[in-house]
Amino acid sequence: MVSPERLSRGLYWDRSLNLVTGCTKCGPECLHCWLESETWMRANHPNKKISEPVAGTVCGGRWTGTVRFIRERLEIPKHRRIRTVYAIWSDLFHPNVPFYDIFSAYQMMYGCKRHTFIVCTKRPERIIPFMRDYDVTAGSFPNVFHMTTAGTQATSSERIPYILELAGRGWPVGLSAEPLLEEIDIARFLKPFYDLPSCMSGDPMTYRPGSLSWVVTGCESGAHRRGSNFSWFMSLKNQCTVSRVPFFLKQYEFEGKITKTFCSDDEFHALPPILMR
Ligand code: SF4
Repeated sequence: MVSPERLSRGLYWDRSLNLVTGCTKCGPECLHCWLESETWMRANHPNKKISEPVAGTVCGGRWTGTVRFIRERLEIPKHRRIRTVYAIWSDLFHPNVPFYDIFSAYQMMYGCKRHTFIVCTKRPERIIPFMRDYDVTAGSFPNVFHMTTAGTQATSSERIPYILELAGRGWPVGLSAEPLLEEIDIARFLKPFYDLPSCMSGDPMTYRPGSLSWVVTGCESGAHRRGSNFSWFMSLKNQCTVSRVPFFLKQYEFEGKITKTFCSDDEFHALPPILMR
């Protein structure tokens, strides 16, 4: 499990694992993509070991559209003995990443069961076709948690149904509503756990068929951040509370400043069971 110290800073993962470099923007959440800025810094780094892997993926601080799978990074979790929660932020399901490369990432995750992997994507529509082609099933991956990112009503309504297809196949799934750009209504995607058949037979909080199992949200950060309203986060929290879906507020804006030290109230930084292993 992630240390309480990291959680208090809104960090619910131990390490990032970017298996892909390069991307293209695909929605309003991408406007101030931090990975694009970070990659641009790396591309200009004097140390070739840092700049070469990202060469050609950014130009003038913007993605070029070149996307590469970095196979060598598959070795990183294999050699780490300490149980670690890895977050795969770079979009593994970008259309320029072939299914066979994605499959090698799942092979690695299959072989590294001591670790937990958060796979976060804005292209959830590619997940089911990939899993069908490569016969990837939930039972073999108790250590993988899929999330989709959406910060507006339009993108959440478009992307969540795809991730829920996974929930219907036995995978726990979540929503990263970050940056949250407006108030969103996702109540129809949150099934009350007492409605679920799994609560008759197992742990109802672990896996919710057809429902999100976790919602994490936060405001945008950075010099050009777009504003937010605390009522948007409270609205999401209330929707989760009604269905008893764990809710995590990563950061919010208070009197013009980003704050991460929100409170000691567990209802604002609850984790799904898969992240508490
Ligand atoms: S999908 Fe993610 S990595 Fe790609 S442009 Fe959008 S925010 Fe950046």
